[in-house]
Amino acid sequence: MLRDKLKQRISNEPTECISYLKELVKSNRVYDGEALEIFIYVIKNGPEQLTNIQWDILLDKGLLPDFYVECDRCEDAIQWSDMYQAIFIKKDHCCPFCSYLVHKKNVRLLD
Ligand SMILES: [Zn+2]
Repeated sequence: MLRDKLKQRISNEPTECISYLKELVKSNRVYDGEALEIFIYVIKNGPEQLTNIQWDILLDKGLLPDFYVECDRCEDAIQWSDMYQAIFIKKDHCCPFCSYLVHKKNVRLLD
């Protein structure tokens, strides 16, 4: 299940996850007060000390479903450092590799 995988991933890659949370906060993407609060907590303290209730907020109100995606095409995990791009810049919900392929195909359609 995506939620469990996400939780595991945050625990395994806290530094990368925190960088992404900072990106979200800095760009004013987070409108929900509770989500913003938990993001700032994790940025300051890391995910190690989160209680179960805090995990629920982080996963269910914070990251899912709008701020965390897996690649739409290959269902691979998207690196934390590519997440912002995939969701907000390219808006294709693709890993960089698939994004490249999709883009290439679209360019060809214009020929
Ligand atoms: Zn992909």
